[in-house]
Amino acid sequence: MTQTFSVRCQNCGSPLQVNDSIRFVTCGYCHSELQVVRDASTVHTEVLQNIERNTAATVNQLKVIELQNEIERLDREWDAWKEQNLSRNQDGTVTEPVSCTSPTTTLSVIGVFVLFTWIIMLVSGAPFAALFIPAAFGLAFFVVADGHNKYARSFLRSKARFDIERSNLLGALEQARKGGR
Ligand SMILES: [Zn+2]
Repeated sequence: MTQTFSVRCQNCGSPLQVNDSIRFVTCGYCHSELQVVRDASTVHTEVLQNIERNTAATVNQLKVIELQNEIERLDREWDAWKEQNLSRNQDGTVTEPVSCTSPTTTLSVIGVFVLFTWIIMLVSGAPFAALFIPAAFGLAFFVVADGHNKYARSFLRSKARFDIERSNLLGALEQARKGGR
């Protein structure tokens, strides 16, 4: 059994007869393309162009929300990474390393220092074997400095990755916002 409904064109308000199997109808007066929308209690029509525009805007809004969530997630992950990997100062604060040197640079600087100290010791009459003293200090310095450099390097590498990912997301977000207008 097909039932016939009387609905009004959303565009011009003219009455239209539709039966319950029809989803789309063209208004006989203004020629608008209409979708027949059935709710629980009422039947009305919507101009198709509006539906398409609304759908596009909705998709864009969803994209914006999704990207905002992505950025928040990334920020949270980065905070968690820092929380886990950065060491705390004595007062509980955290200092982010700003630079690091390569092991070769560290070794060269310490090597020059050791040789220089040794030469001064030789000149002031110390035995040849006195190299042992500055060399031991140099080795201790290298272990400490290299430990710090590894720590700083791992932080800076992660930070660079985070910055790139974040700026990509921000770019995409700007695009999605523009598209929504
Ligand atoms: Zn119409």
